Amino acid sequence: NSFMEFSLSRPLLRSCEALGYTMPTPIQAACIPLAMAGHDICGSAITGSGKTAAFTLPTLERLLYRPKHVPAIRVLILTPARELAVQVHSMVEKLAQFTDIRCCLVVGGLSTKVQEAMLRSMPDIVVATPGRMIDHLRNSLSVDLDSLAVLILDEADRLLELGFREAIHELVRMSPKRRQTMLFSATMTEDVDELIKLSMTRPFYLKA
Ligand code: AMP
Repeated sequence: NSFMEFSLSRPLLRSCEALGYTMPTPIQAACIPLAMAGHDICGSAITGSGKTAAFTLPTLERLLYRPKHVPAIRVLILTPARELAVQVHSMVEKLAQFTDIRCCLVVGGLSTKVQEAMLRSMPDIVVATPGRMIDHLRNSLSVDLDSLAVLILDEADRLLELGFREAIHELVRMSPKRRQTMLFSATMTEDVDELIKLSMTRPFYLKA
């Protein structure tokens, strides 16, 4: 097994090589082909399983394969905490380093003005904590999710535990119905199940 077996574009194979990834992890081997085929994915996977690249690589491939006509936010990655958002953002930047795909970070504790300006410049990918993202969507007429193609809910169990339930449900409802959704969670609780039902269409269930 190697990354060459997925029909990923050359810039993405290059970044895997640069990161020293030779063999896909089990969650990557299962997730990447299904996600590239456009399916919704529900993965039970913990940190360390390689889940970030599992959802990022097919997402970047989709952005490369379907070029945009107008600048817009096309991918939203929601994470429960600022540190995790920082890590995911850094991973996305590394995997996208040989492309012109732009990714920005939207979390509490950073200047709202600066983030607002970044969002107005229409990055392709936004990595955010739910509370801060909702604030921007409510307060700025020029920030919307109308062109969102992929919604990713990372560490869904923690997202829901931390009191983000309402914010997440609202973000799901603000997203276009025709989109791809991927959800990853270490545990499958009743709340996670409810979120799956709300946000996904016939998902494939994967276990790391
Ligand atoms: P994650 O589970 O996404 O937090 O990833 C855990 C760590 O594994 C990160 O440092 C990744 O860079 C690394 N990683 C992800 N996929 C691979 C792979 N296929 N080969 C080697 N390392 C990997």
